[in-house]
Amino acid sequence: PITSSDPIENHQICVCVRKRPLSKKEMGKSEADVITIPNKENVIVHEPKLKVDLTKYLENQQFRFDYAFDEHANNDVVYRYTAQPLVECIFEGGMATCFAYGQTGSGKTHTMGGDFSSKGQQDCSKGIYLLAAKDVFKLLNSKYKKLDLVVGASFFEIYSGKVFDLLNDKAKLRVLEDHKNQVQVVGLREEVVTNTDQVLHLIQHGNTVRTSGQTSANQHSSRSHAVFQIILRQRVRNKIHGKFSLIDLAGNERGADTSSSDRNTRMEGAEINKSLLALKECIRALGRKGAHLPFRASKLTQVLRDSFIGDKSRTCMISMISPGMSCCEHTLNTLRYADRVK
Ligand code: ADP
Ligand code: MG
Repeated sequence: PITSSDPIENHQICVCVRKRPLSKKEMGKSEADVITIPNKENVIVHEPKLKVDLTKYLENQQFRFDYAFDEHANNDVVYRYTAQPLVECIFEGGMATCFAYGQTGSGKTHTMGGDFSSKGQQDCSKGIYLLAAKDVFKLLNSKYKKLDLVVGASFFEIYSGKVFDLLNDKAKLRVLEDHKNQVQVVGLREEVVTNTDQVLHLIQHGNTVRTSGQTSANQHSSRSHAVFQIILRQRVRNKIHGKFSLIDLAGNERGADTSSSDRNTRMEGAEINKSLLALKECIRALGRKGAHLPFRASKLTQVLRDSFIGDKSRTCMISMISPGMSCCEHTLNTLRYADRVK
């Protein structure tokens, strides 16, 4: 498994997998761990032999990624191999994106936003949102000081194809595209930030707004994409220099809700499915010159359009997987999706 002394490779698209540990609850139920990460690139799924339905019988399945993180890797290590190599790209005038993909409960928010495990308390200081912001300020005040840039932060969510501003009381925002295909989220709040503490406050505030009125943090967030952005602007002209978008995606299992008896659930499921399919195609297009970019197929890909074009743009996808036997189908779906992105 990967350690902090392994060398970092530079790809325009990086696809990784992170396995979380079995939870206390799963251990209490003696749930089997069906995932092995034998080295820093491979993931093996030991699929249970489903004796009832022989058509579902499969051997162990092996997948290979740029990096595979086992349950012992902490957020610092994951960050070092995924988002950190992209920070420099925004100073060089590029667009960077980092996606957390996977089933609800697989560790997307733990990785991106931080720790919400203790009730009422949130510690966002160890999530990739904040780790990235920390490095942005470090570079801003050293290597790239002479660029004279200003840092802004925005935080919004996309729910059922609609955009809501998490830094402005969930105001519903419109997305407009001009004749040059430039996409704009009209009225999106962008706070100027000068240090990591201010960013931490914004993240915590946005998270609170996101989950307010929900009985559990996962109830609503499993159906919405959260987009946190760090924006570099030229101080004098206010023009965007570079942008880092960090996205905590909706639970991919929600895309299968298309046959639910509840109409809203069905429509949300269809929307999630559509956006995750479009996302896969858009990331693939980034690595292929002249490839079709179906960014208009969903709100998510539309607002991230800039990130899928240009030689300077870089993307990283962290696919989260749960180790338990009961999650096996979803885990395989996640791994197959990630396999198609690279
Ligand atoms: P998601 O956002 O994908 O629905 P969460 O990030 O909320 O999943 O994770 C579900 C639970 O598992 C949370 O209680 C979280 O604290 C815990 N968890 C997730 N990843 C890890 C990890 N790598 N190490 C320890 N606990 C984790
Ligand atoms: Mg979550």
